[in-house]
Amino acid sequence: MAEPKIVKSTCGMCFAGCGVLIQVENGKVTAVKGDPDSPVNYGVLCPKGRAAVELLYHPERLTHPLKQIGEKGRGQWTRVSWDEALGTIADKLAAIRDAHGPEQVAFIQGSAKGLIDNYNERLANAFGTPNFSTTGHICFLPRLFASKMTCGSYTVPDYESGPACIVVWGANLVETRIGEHFRTVRQLKGGTELIVVDPVQTLLAKKAYTWLQLRPGTDLALALAMIHVIIDQKLYDRDFVEHFMVGFNRLKDHVRKYSPAMVSQITWLAPEKIEEAARFYARSKPAVIQWGNAVDHGVNSFQTARAISILRAITGNLDVPGGDLLPSYPLAGQGASDITLRNRIGPQVWAKRIGAEQNQLPLFRRVLPKSLINAIIDENPYPVRGLYVHASNPLMTYTNADRTYQALKKLDFLAVSDFFMTPTAALADIVLPAATFLEYDSVVAPPYYPFAQVQQKVVQIGECRSDFEITSGLASRLGLQDLFWNNSNDLLDEVLKPTGLTFNEFKNKGVVAGATAYRKYEKSGFETPSGKVELYSNQLESWGFDPLPIYREPPDSPLSEPDLAQTYPLILTTKKSIYYLHSCGRQIKSLRQGHPEPVIYLHPDTAAENSIEDGDWVYIETKQGRVKQKAFLAESLHPRVVCADFGWWFPEEAKYELHGWKASNINIIIDDRFQDSPETGSLNLRGLLCRVYKDGNNYCSVPQIH
Ligand code: SF4
Repeated sequence: MAEPKIVKSTCGMCFAGCGVLIQVENGKVTAVKGDPDSPVNYGVLCPKGRAAVELLYHPERLTHPLKQIGEKGRGQWTRVSWDEALGTIADKLAAIRDAHGPEQVAFIQGSAKGLIDNYNERLANAFGTPNFSTTGHICFLPRLFASKMTCGSYTVPDYESGPACIVVWGANLVETRIGEHFRTVRQLKGGTELIVVDPVQTLLAKKAYTWLQLRPGTDLALALAMIHVIIDQKLYDRDFVEHFMVGFNRLKDHVRKYSPAMVSQITWLAPEKIEEAARFYARSKPAVIQWGNAVDHGVNSFQTARAISILRAITGNLDVPGGDLLPSYPLAGQGASDITLRNRIGPQVWAKRIGAEQNQLPLFRRVLPKSLINAIIDENPYPVRGLYVHASNPLMTYTNADRTYQALKKLDFLAVSDFFMTPTAALADIVLPAATFLEYDSVVAPPYYPFAQVQQKVVQIGECRSDFEITSGLASRLGLQDLFWNNSNDLLDEVLKPTGLTFNEFKNKGVVAGATAYRKYEKSGFETPSGKVELYSNQLESWGFDPLPIYREPPDSPLSEPDLAQTYPLILTTKKSIYYLHSCGRQIKSLRQGHPEPVIYLHPDTAAENSIEDGDWVYIETKQGRVKQKAFLAESLHPRVVCADFGWWFPEEAKYELHGWKASNINIIIDDRFQDSPETGSLNLRGLLCRVYKDGNNYCSVPQIH
């Protein structure tokens, strides 16, 4: 028997980029293990990563293209060739373009998948539509843009040089980025202190020097109070402020009103606790702030990220050893306009994009999902007739799910590319079987690490195709082949050009890091209009946005809607699970065993007041509607806060419409008709008013869950 072959690669079960070693025996993948040499995860994998082989060989995976032949959603499909599937998609989209204009076709990109995101945007731009939609407004883009507008670049924490203090802000690292969690714990063992900002007691919160359990959605108020304390008590880095910043005095005047006492009323944190955390962070040298997705979820998203960036800067932690680095990426230029072909969309076409009147940051070149859904339903500013959905399940992941359903049903033509027949795919005309990360070569270079890592094809399953092949296949059928690559190796060679390596050479190395240098700003300044850190942003002001971060109470909160809070007295937030990426993975046995049912966490006193016991099925109700999840009592939660699961559907339940997509889907009860964040259109996903009560029958009338 031949020795197993071990192939170095990168996990693609989420976008955290953990290094893996793939074991291949007789042409089959027999194990995926953590790569101990990976600078991202040092050999640790989360359950999702460990389940990669189960996903690869799952019997329900889509393995060939399908065409719907009956009424949409009824599940009548016939197998078709790739040629027919891609040809049909291209013909339908081109017919809409030719008859009504390219803007009546939209493209949706789902979970971030690295390089391919840029190539899907390239396809939309090459096609000629301005309507390319992603969930970037609630995932990463507010933090990216705020970092750029404040200090010229996204920052990454320099754990390797040993920070004295790590602040983990709105990130449940163990459940979402296992490598980062492990790296944090390693630092703690070496004596680094930890501050955690989170309404939920995460695993790291239990290890923290201080845990700031704020009211969901009030992060900006906390950040402003911390800036207030640091300036008021002269704990800032005076030399750095004097030489490398603009707007300090205006910031100082601005934050005067955000005293810990005032902000305590907003956040529910004791003033002394806010003051102590600010002092501790400012006095710890060096310190990093590691942030997460919760920062992106609300009307204050961009400005929260601005305030956190300001904290990093005024404490002198930017680009110092053990601080928040301005990274040098090994693949400079990914996402640039020559990759995405953004410039092919001229001003006249760009002005036609859905939601153009909303006037977000000029950096933000996306159509907001809710705007797209509204446009499809209301045909305003025009009908959207055709939609291509890549690696996304909007029916489960978009707010106001009932409207998403109406919109998907209304389309003339819908094509979806995915691993499984999801509730969204079930409404499509054509479904394409996508390859997993074990089935294609790629280069993985997430912006939160200054590395590029290899991803290698080890196996072929059925007729599944990689994202690159699907995108370039569609481009070719649309007559756009000159703008794409003949094969993915040519593309990867081009992507790797800044490193001087071909993809074949890169395979042998596995990882390439960007250059390490500290305090680069001393020579070259910051990549902002002034060349300095912009505490006060003239550019934001000139675009019509707040030049300094101003806290705005979220809509649908006990302070903004006190009358509604009489009926809906609890505050709803949501969390991700270590077992699932968004709405994916519920059909994978080991993951489902780890987290078998949708769960809502609530305090035992809150449960007792509502006659709820641990394990009861309960309704979670907002003014928008109600869904069911199973109660789990958690002493550590604030008694007025409940925390629900996100992304639930039940793949095993074929007898319910679209696998019980409505039963426990939290997006059924999340209203999106509120004010978004002005800069990036981020939705208010945290701190919504709700109530929770027991199902009279204590019986889950939707899918029985095994
Ligand atoms: S966090 Fe888990 S799923 Fe994500 S890349 Fe790492 S091992 Fe894979």
